[in-house]
Amino acid sequence: MIKINNCAYCKKSAGKKQKLNLNVWLNGGLENLELYYCSDACKSKIEEFVRFNNKYGAKLMLAIVAWAVLLVVVPYSLEALTGNILYFKIAIGLMLSLAGIVIVKCPLAIGTSKHYRRLGIRNITLFLKLTGVLMIYAGIRTML
Ligand SMILES: [Zn+2]
Repeated sequence: MIKINNCAYCKKSAGKKQKLNLNVWLNGGLENLELYYCSDACKSKIEEFVRFNNKYGAKLMLAIVAWAVLLVVVPYSLEALTGNILYFKIAIGLMLSLAGIVIVKCPLAIGTSKHYRRLGIRNITLFLKLTGVLMIYAGIRTML
């Protein structure tokens, strides 16, 4: 079976020799990945993405855990303390918008390398940014 190597960034087919060997922070640890690229432009985009991913990946993972805890704790305690459902809605809305802003700013595919491989870094980044914008919108709608 002939293995087709697609550019890790844009998913166009890449040459056999156009390959980067990088340590990428994924699933809570560094994984050595072979990433193919189709052009120099895509090569530098991949390198840039991996640098960014490795720098913020671990922090973002912690932030997500902290956020999930706060999402449960903050709105319910506000409602319990004030007895007012409005605070609950505002807190949920703010938390959603906040997460949306973080995703738009740091569109890192926290999931697995499978997602990168299937969709390419460019599409994943676009998808995450779109999700972030929708979360901001949903957050604002919740508050109104
Ligand atoms: Zn490419």
